[in-house]
Amino acid sequence: MGDGHKEVLEELIDRSNQFLNRSLLLANQYLGVDYHAPAIFYNLKGKTAGLAYPLEWKIRINQSMLITHQIPFIEEVIPHELSHLFVYRYYSVKKRGVIKPHGKEWADFMQECFGLPPKVTHNFEIPLREVTLFVYKCACRTHYLSAIRHNKVLGFKSSYCCKYCTGKLNFLGRTEQVKK
Ligand SMILES: [Zn+2]
Ligand SMILES: [Zn+2]
Repeated sequence: MGDGHKEVLEELIDRSNQFLNRSLLLANQYLGVDYHAPAIFYNLKGKTAGLAYPLEWKIRINQSMLITHQIPFIEEVIPHELSHLFVYRYYSVKKRGVIKPHGKEWADFMQECFGLPPKVTHNFEIPLREVTLFVYKCACRTHYLSAIRHNKVLGFKSSYCCKYCTGKLNFLGRTEQVKK
């Protein structure tokens, strides 16, 4: 992670925390309660945008999706997860039972408190990872080796041959960035 990348992330976390506070105010006003701010962590990976933990009063946010989709991501995912916390805490006591995570109470809360459509799934794509490939050539074509294979060649642990011409692959001394 470069320095520029880190600055962008810090700025986005700042924006996200501000948006959480604004949403918290709205949620407390809407229900007439005074719940404190949940703990928020930006350490979620994979294809889940965010997760809410009502008993621990905490939210986890997907860091690479935050970096990729920025403000639209914040404005959708923060209210979504905060609604889970508020609905669980408020209604499971009131209704003396377990509330479905994306049930009627949650959907109403999203719409009436935040004016948002109660979408269960998000449209945020998983960001592609940029990988460096090492460019090799045999007698007949160009080959692209991963860093792992390239390092094996450098360490003389392995050499690779082309399966078409059976010639040895030679490193051209350059790399290419691809998204995977
Ligand atoms: Zn949800
Ligand atoms: Zn070949």
